[in-house]
Parts: sequence; structure tokens; C-alpha cells
Amino acid sequence: MPDARDELTMQIAQVVPCTEAEGPGKRFALWFQGCPLRCPGCCNPEFLPFKGGETKTLLEMVEWIARAKAESGIEGITLLGGEPFAHAVPAAALAKAARELGLTVMAFSGFLLEDLRARPEPEVRELIDHTDILVDGPYLRDEPDTERRWIGSRNQRIHFLTPRYSQDEQWRKKNTLEIRVSGREIVVNGFPAADAVGLWKGWRRKKPLPVANAKPTTNEAEAK
Ligand code: SF4
Repeated sequence: MPDARDELTMQIAQVVPCTEAEGPGKRFALWFQGCPLRCPGCCNPEFLPFKGGETKTLLEMVEWIARAKAESGIEGITLLGGEPFAHAVPAAALAKAARELGLTVMAFSGFLLEDLRARPEPEVRELIDHTDILVDGPYLRDEPDTERRWIGSRNQRIHFLTPRYSQDEQWRKKNTLEIRVSGREIVVNGFPAADAVGLWKGWRRKKPLPVANAKPTTNEAEAK
């Protein structure tokens, strides 16, 4: 009998079912549609409005993640934005389901952890409780981080909320940018070298969501 929780819906802007550009190891990366913040220079301006993207049920997403685990050996999921904590009810449910699949959870938030911890909504607490790594703080265009892999700007902090990860050598490797071409559509994710920012300006993100089997054509473009 289906669980009522499975019918929970969420607004998704983009999915990359297996990426090495959004956190440690291979990960299922999911961008929510909608962010209340407006960091100047935000890399994902099309993900800011709360209208748009695609509506997916929790069950659909969990099945997709389970498929990615079986087919690609992902070790975790990464929640990005948009702002995951502006979608805390479905994001917490998704994080819990990922943990039940034996996967780790990483989240990027424009909010600070202490502000999130002070929020009264139980779903915000639940999302924090099901997150292994939280990268927090707004993106500051004028303070690009060139030392820490996967991190956008120097002000952003990495919180290892569980013992599953630590700041090992993976975090000191050069940044990673992935470009996928599927038919006439291109999906770019990860963080580029400073001198590569803007290379894809004018490219349109694909719609609908990327298919699960889109293959990376450029797997790793390393920052200098
Ligand atoms: S929090 Fe992230 S998605 Fe929201 S405006 Fe800032 S950089 Fe963009």
C-alpha cells in the first residue's frame, strides 16, 4: 500500500543523476526551483523564481536516486538551489529517504547554520539532522574560493555534521566543471576556474529535466 509520504511533491529545477562536481565521490545532484535570496552573481538565476521547474513526487525522486545508486554507484545526494531550506519539507523527506538507501547527504544553503538552527519549523531541524555536510552562507561574487573544491566563495563554511566525512584531500583538489550534451541541450554543473566563468553564457539549460542516461562529454575541466 503506497505511503502518503510518497505523494509529497517538490519543485525541481535540474537533476544530474551522477556527478563528481557537487561534493565527495559520485553523487546524485538535485537543484530545487526557488530561492528567496538574491546573491549578486548567483550562478543559477533561472532557479530563483518559485514558479517553474518540474513537479516530482517523493516516490519518483527516491526511485530515481535508487536507480542512480544501482547503475552508477553513487555514494550520496547533494541538494542545491534554489535554496534547499526554502523547500525544507520535501528536502527533509528526500534526505531521510536517501539515508535509508545507505547514501550520504550534502546540502548547499545561502543561510547560515546558526540561523537555520534558530528556525522553529520542525522540517528545518529534520533536514539538518539528515545532512552530513552543510555548506552555508550566501555566494559572494567578489570573493571566489580558489582553494576549496566545490565551494563558491571564501565566506562559505563547510560543516561536517556527522562523522561520515572530514576535510580530506578531496577538498583540496582543483575545482571541477562538468558539461553534458543530450540532443540539442546542454547541462553545466560544478564550479569553473575563475577565468572560465561566463564561458557558457547564452547556453540555455535544458527542459524538461535531464534524462538519467545523459553522458558527460567533458568530465573534468580543472581550474588552474
Ligand atoms: S542562495 Fe544560492 S541560489 Fe540563492 S541567490 Fe544565493 S547563490 Fe543563488
